Amino acid sequence: MHRGILLKRFVKFLYPDVCPVCSDVVADQPGICTMCREKLKYIHNPRCLKCGKQMSDGEKEYCYDCLTHHHSYTKGIAVWGYTDGIKQSIYRFKYQNCRCFADIYAQEIASRYAEHIKRWGAQAILPVPLHSKRLADRGFNQAKLVADALGKRLGIPSDDTVLIRDRSTVPQKELDDKQRFKNLENAFIITENVVRYKKVIILDDIYTTGATMDACAKALHEGGVHEVYSVVLCIGRGF
Ligand SMILES: [Zn+2]
Ligand SMILES: [Zn+2]
Repeated sequence: MHRGILLKRFVKFLYPDVCPVCSDVVADQPGICTMCREKLKYIHNPRCLKCGKQMSDGEKEYCYDCLTHHHSYTKGIAVWGYTDGIKQSIYRFKYQNCRCFADIYAQEIASRYAEHIKRWGAQAILPVPLHSKRLADRGFNQAKLVADALGKRLGIPSDDTVLIRDRSTVPQKELDDKQRFKNLENAFIITENVVRYKKVIILDDIYTTGATMDACAKALHEGGVHEVYSVVLCIGRGF
């Protein structure tokens, strides 16, 4: 047998592919195992035409949040509801350095939404930036890893040179809904590279109230971007 193949097999033996949700070894394809796939809340139709949240009633086009609150971004999609399983997986991805989850997440987005996203005609995928201090603490921006992996799969460049996080903000999860919007006011600034784009996708891991997405979209609109689409892994409750 060819040496390269043997080495590959040996590495796989030492470091087998594991499911990013339950950590069990997955034998065939790298990714989320069949059992976890069945348990996770994949978003399906009907979904809110604005934020992409799961809807139970096919008669309505928009969720309560999007009907009662103006969002600055154009529209968006999400892969999962923010429930147990994926919640812990994303936590490990962000805080326990499980960087290899990024490509699995990107694959989940692409396998469901590749055509949908391509129809938007966006010129770039922009990861939601971390403030430089938080980036230094964590060592990587989780949204950038997913944006890069998704960009490769869809043939859309990922660009982290446009949006910058100007202020170090309190983590959103520690705030109530009103404070979330206030906390992010003017948190993002744009660089001159924004002139390259008229349509972009913003990529984030979790969408809760949409405050982060709106703050990014607002900054980008001021820089002359017309359409800002949202792609997130998980979407939680609105308000
Ligand atoms: Zn699993
Ligand atoms: Zn909505």
